[in-house]
Amino acid sequence: MDFKQFSDHCFAFTGAVNIGYCLKEGKGLLIDTGLDESAIRKVLKVLDGQSLPLDYAIITHAHSDHFGGAQYLKEMTGVPLYAPPFEASIMRHPIIEPVYLFNGANPLAELRNKFLEGPPVVVDHLLFTGKTAIGPFAIDVIDLKGHSYAQAGILIEGILYAADGFFGRETLKKHVIPFIIDADETLDSLEKLLHIECKGAIPGHGPFENDLTEIIRQNQEVHYDLRSELFHLIEEKDIGETIENLTRKLLNLHNIKVKTLGQWLLFRTSVTAYLTSLERQERIRFFIHENEPRVAAR
Ligand SMILES: [Zn+2]
Repeated sequence: MDFKQFSDHCFAFTGAVNIGYCLKEGKGLLIDTGLDESAIRKVLKVLDGQSLPLDYAIITHAHSDHFGGAQYLKEMTGVPLYAPPFEASIMRHPIIEPVYLFNGANPLAELRNKFLEGPPVVVDHLLFTGKTAIGPFAIDVIDLKGHSYAQAGILIEGILYAADGFFGRETLKKHVIPFIIDADETLDSLEKLLHIECKGAIPGHGPFENDLTEIIRQNQEVHYDLRSELFHLIEEKDIGETIENLTRKLLNLHNIKVKTLGQWLLFRTSVTAYLTSLERQERIRFFIHENEPRVAAR
């Protein structure tokens, strides 16, 4: 974990998951808390070692790699937590993620792992879209939903902490099929990012970017390509295809070898999100064929 500075007030702990840090008028603000206790302990150690303050923490969205360290942080430091309302509800009852991945049924024990379900935490202050202030920090909370239900990007002192609103090149390459819950919202959020005036941005996964244009275009391309690949797979079969089969075919197309049920369920959610987008465009329809849910081209 490196500690990097981007401007007078803006920093980040960079690694597999980036954790933002802002410093102004002797007050410190954290943006996200890492996957678990061990991640946030490293952050606290660096801050402590450099005698840097910590007074507030924002959590951008309720994925455990972003909020998993929050409960420990709160317990150890008493720092107040800020998060968008819908995301805060999930953090309070984090079993919701394995539940929604598992079709709403009580999840298998193996799905209740730290990557899909962080420790429950009560958020102290709700963060609404628009301009607000936390202590000395003037903040613009930007709605970047699509990757999660109500993810917030944080524009602060001219630097954008974009959460998972976009991914760095390496992360795009590694994930191949990024996790989304709504393809149209994801694309809208990416378009929004193209027009935000900032001196630079750092995503949750990937390096700091001075100019967002190229990386946003690459992110957009990934989603357009996956959606049209799925459409072509659907077009091939008149009688339609199940979401499970389409997930398998898309994974095979990209030579992805899924190792766990949890991983497969995350992929299925993204596939479902692309299909919903195709349905909104009236290019495909959902129906039941012999007691089996299917999608087919219109
Ligand atoms: Zn995420």
